[in-house]
Amino acid sequence: VAQIVARQRQQWPGLVVVVSAMSGVTGKLIRAARTAAAGDGETYRTVHRELRERHHQVVETLLRPGEERQRVLQAVDDLLDEFLTLCQSIQVLAEVTPRAMDTVAPLGERMSALILAALLERRGVPSRAMDAAGLIVTDDRFQNAAPLMEPSCAQVSQRLVPLLEEGVVPVVTGFTGATERGVRTTLGRGGSDYTAAILAECLRADEVWIWTDVDGVMTANPRLIPEARLIPTLSYSEVSELAYFGAKVLHPKTIRPIIERGIALRVKNTFNPQSPGTRILRQPESSDGKVKAVTAIQGMSMVTVEGRGMLGVPGIAARTFSAVASQGASVLMISQASSEQSICFIIPAATVPAVVAAIEEEMARELARRDIDRVWSLEGVVILTVVGAGLRKTPGVSARIFGALGKKSINVIAIAQGSSECSLSLVVAEADATEAMRQIHQEVILHG
Ligand code: ASP
Ligand code: MG
Repeated sequence: VAQIVARQRQQWPGLVVVVSAMSGVTGKLIRAARTAAAGDGETYRTVHRELRERHHQVVETLLRPGEERQRVLQAVDDLLDEFLTLCQSIQVLAEVTPRAMDTVAPLGERMSALILAALLERRGVPSRAMDAAGLIVTDDRFQNAAPLMEPSCAQVSQRLVPLLEEGVVPVVTGFTGATERGVRTTLGRGGSDYTAAILAECLRADEVWIWTDVDGVMTANPRLIPEARLIPTLSYSEVSELAYFGAKVLHPKTIRPIIERGIALRVKNTFNPQSPGTRILRQPESSDGKVKAVTAIQGMSMVTVEGRGMLGVPGIAARTFSAVASQGASVLMISQASSEQSICFIIPAATVPAVVAAIEEEMARELARRDIDRVWSLEGVVILTVVGAGLRKTPGVSARIFGALGKKSINVIAIAQGSSECSLSLVVAEADATEAMRQIHQEVILHG
């Protein structure tokens, strides 16, 4: 990472680095706090030991012995001592509030920032670790805080810009911020990208580059589809569809402001910097009528409300979905036949029993009168979503998709298109999902 930063800095004089925790660290910190609250005095001590070992190892491998190395190791230990103390208090209180969690969770970012700044200095790049708690001002929705742009940008001009003017590379902790009163918050899991976006907006940056551990956004999950390829460019709405439908890419909330301000965005691979990565554009490129990616969401069930007495009766859909909402279930896909004799929708499998019960209660009268025959669920289904700008406007795309599935006799249980300009979703049985993805990928994406 230090090498990448040092190289990039030659091209980008006003470079700001945002760091995340090392892989798996945030999850461990959160689990430690939870188990402490449940009375477990062991787990957090084990986590403490593991994290200390891992961070020390990085420092000892990459920084040569001397005063600087001692200083960094001490700073890491101080943060980890803070972690121990916090977990001890959590254990005593037998409770971890969202606010306390936000003090524990970003410790990984704070360690990363210290270490990377030291490594940059060693390479002769003047650098300074900065805690974003002093830069990004947020509301007090702990664990999912939203930035307050005006005060944040004021802090950025006051504290970050002068460093840039001196030629220092600030290494800012991702994921975290603080309320106006200085209480630490986090921006939600995966929030380091968001941190970069907020800083970019304040600084009116030219570009934001997200360095991750894959080459960029892929045409399909490479673990399931080995032929998956890198997608060179994606529009903002394509990214949003992909994110919504389960691809592990950029969060739309995160990137909207930067895209709207015309700040270029790129996803690059830390472990393969030569790869061009994926560029995210505001508008789809003109040549785009193509299908770019296919994703799958597992663990879904399909609920169907059906009955001949539903025909022409207003309000059935509204009541059905308010019953769903009353259970806090989010609906990922809806389809209704034009005969109005059934509505089906897809929800996470775990929410089915509560949702079906709530609909039956809401529709008790209709069920008694047999206007609605039954409310039933089909378990073990997967939503496949095919994404590409212009899908709706390009004739023949659906024919190709369904043709590809038909060739392998894969049954399509439900279909939805139209709510988005650039996606088509279909539901298949879990057992068919991988084969269906492979077919669509092979016949529509690669040979499209
Ligand atoms: N380390 C944080 C997380 O794992 C933030 C991030 O990775 O972007 O959620
Ligand atoms: Mg992360």
